[in-house]
Amino acid sequence: MAALQALFGGTFDPIHYGHLNTVEALARQVGLHQVTLLPNNVPPHRPQPEASAAQRVAMVELAIANRPLFNLDTRELMRQTPSWTVETLEQLRLERGETQPLAFIIGQDSLLSLHKWHRWQELLDLCHLLVCQRPGYERTMPTPELQNWLTQHHTQQASALHQQPCGLIWLADTPLLPVSATDIRQRYRHNLSCDDLLPAPVIDYINHQGLYRP
Ligand code: ATP
Repeated sequence: MAALQALFGGTFDPIHYGHLNTVEALARQVGLHQVTLLPNNVPPHRPQPEASAAQRVAMVELAIANRPLFNLDTRELMRQTPSWTVETLEQLRLERGETQPLAFIIGQDSLLSLHKWHRWQELLDLCHLLVCQRPGYERTMPTPELQNWLTQHHTQQASALHQQPCGLIWLADTPLLPVSATDIRQRYRHNLSCDDLLPAPVIDYINHQGLYRP
């Protein structure tokens, strides 16, 4: 069977160590050799990213230049309209075949609100979910029904993720990194240092482009 392939979607406005270091730790735990970053378009009714799509891509490219685990797929940004994760996963499933083990990586905050995602119940028909812990977020689901759903799909066997094409949830024991893009943008607005929060080349780019300034 082909190696487990993993995808990690996000706004990446900007990409930071909460994304990079957490997913590297997850990759070591689960045995991932490649993680594809999928920067997304944001639907018009939601607050828009401050950085343009091209700037978000540039920051991702700088961040992963010396991190061989990661590569980049800009398909969601190429489309005029925001794409739903489930549709991107359908496309990837078609491209990679029925038997290819595929995983989508999310943070705990995203797991807790997954039931608000478009066609969320179909996600596990297309991929596994690998969930990274995030400080400040509950470990139990908001309703007993959702907790049941989680329990039904939860696995503690990393090998199962490599053997099945989809359908399982892995709750990773990743380090708790208290970093968010919102916090970084606020720190920039208040001229506070972000040195420990994101890679130096990304910081240089933000400064050079004058991003996130008041
Ligand atoms: P914002 O603060 O603008 O909402 P963010 O920091 O949450 O941004 P996103 O690009 O929206 O970053 O996140 C992409 C994915 O990364 C989401 O699934 C999110 O849960 C996860 N993630 C972001 N930061 C962390 C972190 N510090 N630890 C674990 N997961 C994280």
